[in-house]
Amino acid sequence: MPDTGAARAPLLDAAALAGPWAGGRGGSRTQTEPGSGRPIAGIGLAATEDVERAALAAVAAQESWARTTCAERALVLREAAAVLAAHSDEVADWVNRETGGVGAKGAGEVAAAIEELYAGAALAAEPCGELLPGSAPGQFGYARRVPVGVVGVITPWNAPLRLAARAVVPALALGNAVLLKPDEQTAIGGGLVLAAAFARAGLPAGLLAVLPGPAEVGEALVASEHTAVISFTGSTATGRRIGSIAGGLLKRAVLELGGNNAFVVLDDADLPAAVDAALRASLAHNGQICMAAGRHLVHQDLAEEYTAALVERLARLRCGDPRVAEVAIGPLINGRQADRVAGIVADSVAAGAELRLGGRPLDTGPGAGTLTGLYPPTVLTGVRPGMPAFDEEIFGPVIPVTSFADDEEAVRLARATAYGLSAAIHTADPVRGRAFADRLPTGMAHVNGSTIDDAPHVPMGGLGLSGNGHRSGGRWNVEAFTFTQWVTVLDRPRAPRKAG
Ligand code: NAD
Repeated sequence: MPDTGAARAPLLDAAALAGPWAGGRGGSRTQTEPGSGRPIAGIGLAATEDVERAALAAVAAQESWARTTCAERALVLREAAAVLAAHSDEVADWVNRETGGVGAKGAGEVAAAIEELYAGAALAAEPCGELLPGSAPGQFGYARRVPVGVVGVITPWNAPLRLAARAVVPALALGNAVLLKPDEQTAIGGGLVLAAAFARAGLPAGLLAVLPGPAEVGEALVASEHTAVISFTGSTATGRRIGSIAGGLLKRAVLELGGNNAFVVLDDADLPAAVDAALRASLAHNGQICMAAGRHLVHQDLAEEYTAALVERLARLRCGDPRVAEVAIGPLINGRQADRVAGIVADSVAAGAELRLGGRPLDTGPGAGTLTGLYPPTVLTGVRPGMPAFDEEIFGPVIPVTSFADDEEAVRLARATAYGLSAAIHTADPVRGRAFADRLPTGMAHVNGSTIDDAPHVPMGGLGLSGNGHRSGGRWNVEAFTFTQWVTVLDRPRAPRKAG
């Protein structure tokens, strides 16, 4: 029975934080806040051998879960949404502390997970097949969608709860069991909170195991003979490796990878509105979002005014520790990531780009000097293909501006990347915007919007280095987490049709 009556007790007590792997071969780990390194809590880590243990429990639990009615599954999902809602402040805080999130970052992830749970509850009751014309007299045929069995889900640190929910929820809704390996750095907000919410909601034991651990635990999940589908969200390099292991095992891999997304400003754009959208698209969670605007392609007549507006707005932002002061820019996930971003900026400047803002903290908040991973909002102009700021996914608060002379050149520049996740086009003419979007090989394109957009009912995913063509969201989740079985029924045994 669901246990939402426990709403007043914290969602995660010490036992839930330690998890089932406490004291096991994987050891333990102290979660820390990015930047300050302040300890948050200790968690138990899974070892590779725990994957098989969890997989066997999942196989055993999945069979009866797949036989439950859609209403029974929907009830559990709605109850899990209610548990998260009742503990939204606590969960948002776990997410903010582990990710270094500023302001409403954590609350936004909780809201997204709740939406995902309600969408999953509805997905459980969607039609699960089609009637097919018989291929013989007296034959009745249908194609039915069948849960794949056990789904392995591997997720990154940047939006840990939202991205875990995006795969875990539809997989469970469609009758599967799930083994979830969150990134170690964000294993509480990206895993343990979901497991606790589902446990309180009455999800039968064994159906969802959280396996916080290093890359080897992820690889064991991919290699396990018990996982039928792997849903991976993370870097292109890791996606490539997971895709090749899964391919060798003839296993479906749903890969959601990095991006280098163009934010295009045509000559007739509403400039102040475009600047607003651009700031959100490049600075949300310090640019550590796969859909972040990584390249700003701006018509040459607007480029200087656009750049000046960005610099003026960004120069006023406060950088520092979001746990001790109200700041707009907090630390990146770790010092390594900040060094990587600094390298991309320095190499681009060395290659001829102009640094218009950034390179050192601006108006720093209390304690900022002691933080690792703090990188200031940065604006580069004169960025061209061949420079790292144009060619690479930056994953930091950097805005590289590239100017163009006409729409043809803008399309060429937008397409000058092997990534294919998202794009935004700003123009006063929606028809022109649509025509531009039609020429982009990206999984998503938004006219007068942001490169960052997502909802549980839309097809989310990319092409090229951004993914292998699978989509998550809505009915596309059915493609990811079920297979199709063709069933025929004859009214009575009949002689086979003549061959040839
Ligand atoms: P990452 O690939 O380093 O790690 C992601 C997850 O994979 C972690 O849980 C990690 O432990 C695990 N992992 C690492 N090596 C593994 C291996 N060999 N086998 C199995 N698991 C392994 O990615 P990251 O740096 O943590 O995340 C940032 C990246 O994720 C960026 O490139 C970003 O664009 C991408 N991302 C994509 C989307 C999307 O929807 N397309 C969303 C968010 C983030």
